[in-house]
Amino acid sequence: MALVSLTPTIKLSWEPNATQTLSLLNRCSNMEELKQIHAQMFKLGLANETVPLSNILTFCTSRNSGGLSYAQMVFDRVNTPDTFMWNTIIRGFANSSEPEQALLLYQQMLTHSVPHNSYTFPFLLKACSNLSALEVTQQIHAQIIKLGFSSEVFAINSLLHAYAIFGSIESARLLFDRIPHRDIVSWNSMIDGYIKCGAIKTAHEIFNDMKAKNVVSWTTMISGYVGASMNKEALNLFHEMQIAGVKPDNIALVSTISACAHLGALDQGRWIHKYIKKIGIQVDPILSCALIDMYVKCGDMEEALEVFRRIEKKGVSAWTAIIFGFAIHGQGREALNWFSEMQKVGIKPNLITFTAILTACSYAGLVDEGKSLFESMERKHNLKPTIEHYGCVVDLLGRAGLLMEAKKLIDTMPVRPNSVIWGALLKACRIHGNLNLGKQIGKILIENDPEHGGRYIHLATIYAMAREWDHAVEVRRQMIDKGITKLPGCSSISLSGISHEFFAGDRSHPHIDEINRMWDQIAKRLKQEGYKPSTRGLLLDLEDEEKETAIQKHSEKLAIAFGLIKTQPGETIRIIKNLRVCEDCHTVTKLISKLYAREIIMRDRTRFHLFSDGKCTCGDYW
Ligand code: ZN
Ligand code: ZN
Repeated sequence: MALVSLTPTIKLSWEPNATQTLSLLNRCSNMEELKQIHAQMFKLGLANETVPLSNILTFCTSRNSGGLSYAQMVFDRVNTPDTFMWNTIIRGFANSSEPEQALLLYQQMLTHSVPHNSYTFPFLLKACSNLSALEVTQQIHAQIIKLGFSSEVFAINSLLHAYAIFGSIESARLLFDRIPHRDIVSWNSMIDGYIKCGAIKTAHEIFNDMKAKNVVSWTTMISGYVGASMNKEALNLFHEMQIAGVKPDNIALVSTISACAHLGALDQGRWIHKYIKKIGIQVDPILSCALIDMYVKCGDMEEALEVFRRIEKKGVSAWTAIIFGFAIHGQGREALNWFSEMQKVGIKPNLITFTAILTACSYAGLVDEGKSLFESMERKHNLKPTIEHYGCVVDLLGRAGLLMEAKKLIDTMPVRPNSVIWGALLKACRIHGNLNLGKQIGKILIENDPEHGGRYIHLATIYAMAREWDHAVEVRRQMIDKGITKLPGCSSISLSGISHEFFAGDRSHPHIDEINRMWDQIAKRLKQEGYKPSTRGLLLDLEDEEKETAIQKHSEKLAIAFGLIKTQPGETIRIIKNLRVCEDCHTVTKLISKLYAREIIMRDRTRFHLFSDGKCTCGDYW
């Protein structure tokens, strides 16, 4: 008999009767047990009964049971499986690594003219989503209409969801507009669909039109904003959610906290952390890492470490987040200590950990340590370096002035160098004055990245440094002719939970007159200290005086002046800058920290600078 192959050899230690067997089946917890019970069913003549068979199929097709092939064998031996059994086996395959099997089974279901119910479609459409099969989805859509399920919101919602996932948003919208009784899932799928295709504004309109929003609606919209780098909007929405009295779930919290991290909004991040404690939300590993990342990026390493200490089972992500924190704060030695401590307690570093530790070596100028760690990746840890790791090492060598070694690494690396890698070498050429190599790389970068304004500015600056004015002007003209603009410098300072933004030369701020008066006062004191503006990094086709004003208007200076007006003496000033801080602003900020006895923490595009008493933690090496 074919079924013999199914009967397991392990025997139960007692012989249950029919009732006991069925009740055992309901309490079964793993495949071994299930096979024993199934064997007992044969003995008792229950093996062809619909209900216990359905129970067996349900158990074997559930996620993580590992029983899908067993389920298939059982299913194949049922004479006439009913709709429930077909749905069950289709669902099992839709969620598996072989979703195409679900569609094949559905073909058989049609051939055998098995009646459908509204649960048949969601599983099929799930398989389509996993296979990215738009055409099959459209065929199933036709079936839904043909079989008269088009008014069943459950079936329609899964269709809507499938279209939204494929980015076929117009089809999804047509469907949505025709649903007579939309439920909350229909609305949420539509919001999700618009977010996935980048139409954030439309997603928000749908969100606003929704009468009853649940936690999924809020979370989808908040995460959508964060994904689109609209972090302020995400924070605002989180507060609206609070006012609406909806308790956030962990996904909403992770998104909101990451918005705080991007904005450097420490006060709001702290507030959310307190809120999490207050309402007793379980801090899972993902939420812990989000909190660590937020404190790290807002410059509060102490609090990041405090969150880390409270994690019961510290995984590689939590360790990596801390190592990355020390990296961007320029504390390379500390990062190295944590890196070895982590391995001592048995946690293996992964690729992201290596990015963090190599960044740490690069920012702290630890050349030998960085090189030897990079070399150990494949040899000791069996990790193949990615382009990001090559980028870190090029940066490390470049900063240390080992330009030829960096160039050699780029020429011999197994992956094609990207703009980040060339950009790192170009920066090194500027810092170390290798203008010939700089010109070569500058041209490569413009070829690779013709729409990126910063690339033109860099090449023009290199020409200017080499006093080749005609070339410098030519590059700038190319940029203007192509209508390319450079990303404007923007600095923000967060005061009592409100973030104030400043742009270079900005006159739109409501307190601009007060800020300018403050700046005049600062400039006077700087001059008394013997400070002269550095213009080396600027494009030198301006008259000297113009250059000086251009530098004076850099956004971080406006933000610092505003910070000095609005904070108490002795209070730390925290600034977030979207670009790399320029040489002149760096010098000025050091002086201000001394003259005004203030600690100033500045996060630029890649790292932190902590200015105090005339010095910076980066050691002028950034
Ligand atoms: Zn500047
Ligand atoms: Zn610095």
